[in-house]
Amino acid sequence: MIIDIPTAGEFHAAGLKQVHLAWQIAMDSVHDHDGATYYKLADETPEEAVEEFWQRSQPALANAYSLIQQGMELALKGRIAAVSPYLLIGGPKDWPKGTATGPVSFGEFRTLDATDLIPVHNSVVASPLDEPFKTFWEQVRRDRNKIMHSSAPGTFTPEQVVKTLLTAIEALFSEVPWAQRLIELEDESKFASLGFVDNARNHVLRQIATAIRHLKPAEAKRFFGYDDDRRGYVCPHCYFASNRDWQDDWPRLAQLTTKSPGATELYCLVCEETTVTERAPCGQTECKGDVIAEGICLTCTHSQDECFDVASGLVDSTLSKADHCYDFVFGYGTAGAGGYFAGDQQTLANDADAKEHGRFAMREKHLQRWNTVSIMHVQRRNFPDLTDADRVLGHWSRNGDNLDWIDGVRADRPDMGGLSE
Ligand SMILES: [Zn+2]
Ligand SMILES: [Zn+2]
Repeated sequence: MIIDIPTAGEFHAAGLKQVHLAWQIAMDSVHDHDGATYYKLADETPEEAVEEFWQRSQPALANAYSLIQQGMELALKGRIAAVSPYLLIGGPKDWPKGTATGPVSFGEFRTLDATDLIPVHNSVVASPLDEPFKTFWEQVRRDRNKIMHSSAPGTFTPEQVVKTLLTAIEALFSEVPWAQRLIELEDESKFASLGFVDNARNHVLRQIATAIRHLKPAEAKRFFGYDDDRRGYVCPHCYFASNRDWQDDWPRLAQLTTKSPGATELYCLVCEETTVTERAPCGQTECKGDVIAEGICLTCTHSQDECFDVASGLVDSTLSKADHCYDFVFGYGTAGAGGYFAGDQQTLANDADAKEHGRFAMREKHLQRWNTVSIMHVQRRNFPDLTDADRVLGHWSRNGDNLDWIDGVRADRPDMGGLSE
């Protein structure tokens, strides 16, 4: 009696694990490579550093290639096992002894050779694998064998590995879009690891962005639906699902759904959400973005209500920082009791201009959420405390439609005479 017979689903899941492992190895290599030029030796050119890096990465990339092939084999076995797992173990002549008289585990049987998998698959599965897949399958097998049986492995580029991975995934693991799958797999592993820090979405965004960077435009379109001719934006869903404590640079993987100038629908290939955006210029003066949602600019991710660099006409960046530097600390709520404060620094001619600049900012529509702005003239700042050389001008406080000036007192530090409303 044959026992421990794996199900079609178990073969498929095991194959997926191999392919995911290959994906992680490939991505780690590429990410290391992105940093490789920074760590070059003194007598190396950046090109030599990258060349040397890839030479050192060949074993890892070759390993990834093997895993892709094993993953595909397992997926094909799963499809055959869905018809009958017995098709995988050949004829009775090849079976281990004792099968008819006692229990023998499926694992002890010799299963089909890789070369037989496609003919058997196409003989018993209703949707046969096509010629392009057969060519691809043969190429991966040949490449893998070349790595395994050669003392000087061929050079595998990240482009090759990424494309091979995605072609295999498209053919055999496409029931769930790959980006979705990565989110699921990352979610599973994050609960398994100790020291829970939720960077799952950050990882997936980075990996997809890396993959797209190493694909030709037509391939990026084919595998991810990413249109290289269009601008990309940060997806607000993915942004807020990510850990935002450490990341400054955000992949822009969401794109407007039409090319019309006022288009507002934004589709994200990672989370597959469509966001209705607002088309308005970003409040950051140096940002050219004009697609806003959830209070952030989807180009620079700046919170729109923290764009303090307002056009009062009083800021003069040519003035010396040593003598003309002013801190503007905007706040709402109570200092020391959950209040929130955020700051900006500008150079202005004198106290009167600084005071007027603060008043102007508090009048701006996008800054209405803030209740106070404290203004300090700073010279040798000892953050967040002032030094003897620094001076507190005072703060503006919102009072209905009016602004009250409270002289000589900051609102953001209770120990400096802050508000206790
Ligand atoms: Zn998204
Ligand atoms: Zn912006």
